[in-house]
Amino acid sequence: MSNNKMNMSALFQIGYGLYVVTSNDGKKDNGLIVNTVIQVTNTPEKIAVTINKQNYSHDTIKETGVMNVNCLTVEAPFKVFEAFGFVSGRNTDKFAGCSPERSANGLAVLPRYINAYISLKVEQYIDLGTHGMFICSITEADVISDKESMTYAYYHKNVKPKPETKTVKGYVCKICGYVYEGEELPADFVCPLCKHGASDFEPIK
Ligand code: FE
Repeated sequence: MSNNKMNMSALFQIGYGLYVVTSNDGKKDNGLIVNTVIQVTNTPEKIAVTINKQNYSHDTIKETGVMNVNCLTVEAPFKVFEAFGFVSGRNTDKFAGCSPERSANGLAVLPRYINAYISLKVEQYIDLGTHGMFICSITEADVISDKESMTYAYYHKNVKPKPETKTVKGYVCKICGYVYEGEELPADFVCPLCKHGASDFEPIK
């Protein structure tokens, strides 16, 4: 053990999966990428999903009280993360040119790259400041394939593109690979692609 007892890198050792959470604001389907889906109880089963308040989906789900969790597999290519993770449903139709399947609640189920979906009904909302946590019951669930689930670790190792950054001086976003060029990364910098903060950037070596 080291002398640094507040080594936040410890948090990277927590295991996560990656999911597309779909919702509908009454006008169009929407979806976003989250890693924060957890089964928190059984008998009855309850699922917690935490979403950043800056995401349009947060407001939609708070209003409609329903969502689908689409469990991504290791076959999901980077373009899925770009389509659902790096643009906002506020001004983009993320399902343009795609005809999704539907669960009984009417919400979209991804036609590819998932091994299961779970339809959720919000039972409780917990305000966490920057984020909202939705505690949900399950109204429908099914397994689509036996392909392995996408984990956060797998995404970082195998899916996220490795940028050619040898020649520039700056910082790279550990989440999506965005490159900030400059000597000093502002402490309040927010990644324009994935909206993660300065703590998720590392200097380019
Ligand atoms: Fe990023």
